[in-house]
Amino acid sequence: MFDSLSDRLTGALKDLRGKGRLSDADIDRTCREIRLALLEADVSLPVVRAFIARIKERAKGAEVSAALNPAQMVVKIVNEELVGILGGETRRVRFAKSPPTVIMLAGLQGAGKTTLAGKLGHWLSQQGHTPLLVACDLQRPGAVSQLQIVGERAGVPVYAPHPGTGVGGEGTLGVTAGDPVSVAKAGVDEARAKHYDVVVIDTAGRLGIDAELMKQASDIRDATSPDEVLFVVDAMIGQDAVTTAQAFSDGVGFTGVVLTKLDGDARGGAALSVREVTGQPIMFASSGEKLEDFDVFHPDRMASRILG
Ligand code: GDP
Repeated sequence: MFDSLSDRLTGALKDLRGKGRLSDADIDRTCREIRLALLEADVSLPVVRAFIARIKERAKGAEVSAALNPAQMVVKIVNEELVGILGGETRRVRFAKSPPTVIMLAGLQGAGKTTLAGKLGHWLSQQGHTPLLVACDLQRPGAVSQLQIVGERAGVPVYAPHPGTGVGGEGTLGVTAGDPVSVAKAGVDEARAKHYDVVVIDTAGRLGIDAELMKQASDIRDATSPDEVLFVVDAMIGQDAVTTAQAFSDGVGFTGVVLTKLDGDARGGAALSVREVTGQPIMFASSGEKLEDFDVFHPDRMASRILG
């Protein structure tokens, strides 16, 4: 996804190579190119501005070091600042002291929540956990059975609503009726009773942000007191990623971000702005439809990948 950003940034930094000393004009020119590269990749403007200001300040004030020539010094600064906007340290899941840990997924319809529930379940199992997926997307026809298929593929049990009652049981066939808040609560109770140590709650999304969606997500959050609320966002939706993140941050609140569809060929920079705009870390990245196309998000590795 970040191939062209990567090419542009390495190009901008390559021009500095071989220079014994960097003038302010060299730094200004390089910063202009970096700015254009970031804007072309769709990183949001306030994030680009702050990023460039920090690079300029640090590059102009940089001490000449015995170990690094000036060009290497600028590359190092750009790398560090890129790691910074991506969140700095890798943020791990915060597991509850007394299980079950509750992880709630929120985001727009089509963001990849249901697919992610399977991936997360699979990943948690590999980490030695015993997850239970809970189907609370009762809005989209087929969402419950989609989660059941995803769960089966991942080898993770699914708690889904019983037809007509609004509360459910493991392995029951999906229906679209019912009350997602009751299902969420009953799912957590089920996990506690049957000793599943992590509950992943799949919630409904809408095509756009609306008050009802926010209210439902907030109600599920209030009813289940999740340890993590993960905002799932399609990296291909451009600047909408930033506005949606802001709306979910204000309306529901979340503790971490999952970027999906990083395998797409869109510019993707907007998604990289989500951390800086909302203050919440990117925790996972999904880059395909298969269970394995998923990993913990490491800001330093992503920065190195972008800088080539
Ligand atoms: P939900 O509405 O948020 O639950 O979204 P879904 O999980 O149903 O995903 C919407 C579509 O995106 C489905 O066709 C998924 O197969 C697809 N999808 C999800 N994650 C990824 C990903 O990382 N890469 C690609 N290429 N497709 C994905």
